[in-house]
Amino acid sequence: MPTMKAVVKTKPELGAELQDKPIPKPKSDWVVVKVRATSICGTDVHIYKWDNWASGRIGAKALPQILGHEVAGEVVEVGEHCKRIKVGDYISAETHIYDPGDLTSMLGQAHVGVHMKILGVDYDGCFAEYFALPEIICWPNDKSIPPEVATIQEPLGNATYAVLGEDADVAGKSMLITGDGPISLFAIGVARAVGVAKIIHFGKYDRNMEIGKQMGADLQVYTNKTTGKERLEFVLDHTGGNGVDIALEMVGSQDSLDDSFACVRKAGRVTAFGVASEPTMPIQYNNGIVFKGCQIHGINGRKIFDTWYRNRNLLANGRLDPTPVITDVYPLAEFATGFGKMMERPRTSAKIVLFPERSEYEAALKRRK
Ligand code: ZN
Repeated sequence: MPTMKAVVKTKPELGAELQDKPIPKPKSDWVVVKVRATSICGTDVHIYKWDNWASGRIGAKALPQILGHEVAGEVVEVGEHCKRIKVGDYISAETHIYDPGDLTSMLGQAHVGVHMKILGVDYDGCFAEYFALPEIICWPNDKSIPPEVATIQEPLGNATYAVLGEDADVAGKSMLITGDGPISLFAIGVARAVGVAKIIHFGKYDRNMEIGKQMGADLQVYTNKTTGKERLEFVLDHTGGNGVDIALEMVGSQDSLDDSFACVRKAGRVTAFGVASEPTMPIQYNNGIVFKGCQIHGINGRKIFDTWYRNRNLLANGRLDPTPVITDVYPLAEFATGFGKMMERPRTSAKIVLFPERSEYEAALKRRK
């Protein structure tokens, strides 16, 4: 049986191992992809650390399992029932394996499907030379998009959906974006690309604040050097005393939640993306939501495939350059260095891309300025 190198979670404890695994064969409605680039997500870090979320969601009895879900690659084999995707297609993967029979899918909300499964969580992932995925979640990439960018379209899609919301009514408006993880930084770039008129960024790590500026933040505030009251005054000062039209909560901390509901204007939108460490978090219910006439929009995933379509157009036509957020690239075999970087605090990295093949890694290095 032909084998491949893969990053495998073998034990319910910190870490993962590079192992030889059989190259997967496609089920009848799945395809097999040769991975050109893959990137490390916060979800992978949870699994790598094997924290409470990972042990509860995946569980030790699912191990061994290959990590990873963000990918760009070339289709090398298709199952006998595949129709749309062909051998040779250059694709990325929507991580959410939706069930077309779910009510939400039938109503165009497949990203929050009832029977949804997740790549790299419920199935083997893509931190490998090859991996298998259902045809329905394959997204054909524009050939002009290099693999290190094509792989980050999945988290970029979270950012795009968060910025646009359900109505995409953002042009000419003001937006607060909290946090300095990769998706906050992508969101700044998307907001700029789709015509948000004023972008206020709250973060705390120097390098990531620098990237936020590069991505197009107009104004920045260090949350570790200011009080909530000072941040609110700053936002009011720069929005004619009204507050921002839209606030993206992308941290999940109490301070960030408070900032978002305080800084949004009356009848504005708060987008909830940051996953809170506690299952319940206090909110200024009366003054932050009820009397403000505030809308709250939860983001889980991307709009399938509306977000993908918009991102492909933004990337292929050069309207959006997400590459400043890709801070590090490594060969797949050096995955442990990548995970080490991801876990470092204060943060010194944002998005990290891995390449199974040396030549892809070297080509990506050459493209970096
Ligand atoms: Zn991800």
